[in-house]
Amino acid sequence: MTDLATHQAKLAGHLARFRAGGILNLIDGQDVAGEDWFETRSPVDESLIARVALGTVETVDRAAKAAKTAFPAWAALPGDKRKAILHRIADLIEARAEEIALCECWDTGQAWRFMSKAALRGAENFRFFADLAPGARDGKSLPTPDHLNVTSRHPIGPVGVITPWNTPFMLSTWKIAPALAAGCTVVHKPAEFSPLTARLLAEICHEAGLPPGVLNLVNGMGEGAGRALTEHPDIRAIAFVGESRTGSAIMRQGAETLKRVHFELGGKNPVIVFEDADLDRALDAAIFMIYSLNGERCTSSSRLLVQDSIADSFHARLVERVNRIRVGHPLDPATEVGPLIHETHFDKVASYVALGRAEGATLAAGGTRVGETGWFLRPTLFTGARPDMRIAQEEVFGPFLTSIRFKDEAEALSIANGVAYGLTGYVWTNDLTRALRFSDRLEAGMIWVNSENVRHLPTPFGGVKASGIGRDGGDWSFEFYMEQKNVAFALGSHRIPRLGA
Ligand code: NAD
Repeated sequence: MTDLATHQAKLAGHLARFRAGGILNLIDGQDVAGEDWFETRSPVDESLIARVALGTVETVDRAAKAAKTAFPAWAALPGDKRKAILHRIADLIEARAEEIALCECWDTGQAWRFMSKAALRGAENFRFFADLAPGARDGKSLPTPDHLNVTSRHPIGPVGVITPWNTPFMLSTWKIAPALAAGCTVVHKPAEFSPLTARLLAEICHEAGLPPGVLNLVNGMGEGAGRALTEHPDIRAIAFVGESRTGSAIMRQGAETLKRVHFELGGKNPVIVFEDADLDRALDAAIFMIYSLNGERCTSSSRLLVQDSIADSFHARLVERVNRIRVGHPLDPATEVGPLIHETHFDKVASYVALGRAEGATLAAGGTRVGETGWFLRPTLFTGARPDMRIAQEEVFGPFLTSIRFKDEAEALSIANGVAYGLTGYVWTNDLTRALRFSDRLEAGMIWVNSENVRHLPTPFGGVKASGIGRDGGDWSFEFYMEQKNVAFALGSHRIPRLGA
């Protein structure tokens, strides 16, 4: 197995050019420096990774114009040609997966064991949508006795993609690949905390033969470049992944230009463990779904709802396991939890530890900082929480689990649905009828029964309530990036109403 020192040496080699020249924007196939810069620092030790070109309103305007100019030719390219380019992108992602994963770990603090897989998932996303590209325009034939109605789909135009910092590379491919497969051109504004792998993706796309202007990269702040993108008149739609309140802001910002929006937002997802469940497997899944990816995961099971009769023993086993989770350097293959992305985010998560105590829940594990440099937090567990506590209602977005007891199915359902969010739910029971009934009534866009989150790319991905608008995956992605057109052909001489005759 590759060790930490080898990973660090390889990473230093990959970063050398960014240390020297900074991370530049990429517009119309050209590197573009800004008038100003911002910095990206590693959450491991706060050291400077690179300076980053700060995109402004003018930079976004230039990128949007490039995307608009490139759109007609890209949209008109036959689907099998788009398919071939997207597969070449996937090939290059696979070839550079190690570099992508090393950079992602260092920029975000996510552990190598997960990021090495996430880089390859990025390639899979491109392959999946590459194969769908030739059929993206397909429609239906809807005949009546008088008319033949024929539908077809058309790419909506240049789109903006705005992504968060938690698993930035994988999430960017998840949005950009279907947009390109549909025939849209893209301006991508990655999160300011983690710009590194978005630059690698843009380079890879151009190396793979994506024409200039089809994918443009503009780094910058949410309130600067992000806002400008959402307000730009040439940008037809915004695909956004991030916090719910940012989604609201984007909706307001995009109102003037009537933007179509697709939102993948926050969650406070329940894992519900009934007394009849396979408790060993439920324990493994509950731990994995909140402490993997540093808990910085929209689909994390951040609320444990556990039935009274088994709660004490389940908690005892949980505490033992949580205390053994290995917190460490994200490039160390043994690490299970790395540092949180940034000081401000660390402070936010730490504030919920203080809040949980103040609200009267029991801090059963973790809650303390590890070391004096970097933003490492011991995996945290609160038991004895009430459903109305803020630690049971608000998204913390860290390795932070809130456990609540319930007595019966009705109470479990009421607690599970009693939050603003509705992204995922995880139900553990061996009672088939209960599983069917409960999952039918649970307010969530995605539910797994007796399973952790295992993605199947053709299935719809997205949330209800404050967790989002719209779905990704399979054909659902094309519904967002494309317009429907219906053409009705008269089949004969049907009667036309005659006015003034
Ligand atoms: P965020 O909302 O703070 O930022 C996301 C992106 O939006 C960044 O690129 C940021 O610069 C940009 N932005 C901020 N303000 C903006 C504005 N006014 N106009 C335009 N763009 C703006 O989110 P974050 O802290 O980076 O990410 C964490 C959040 O993302 C969590 O809430 C998490 O649940 C959510 N998330 C959801 C999913 C999902 O699929 N549902 C997946 C991953 C993350």
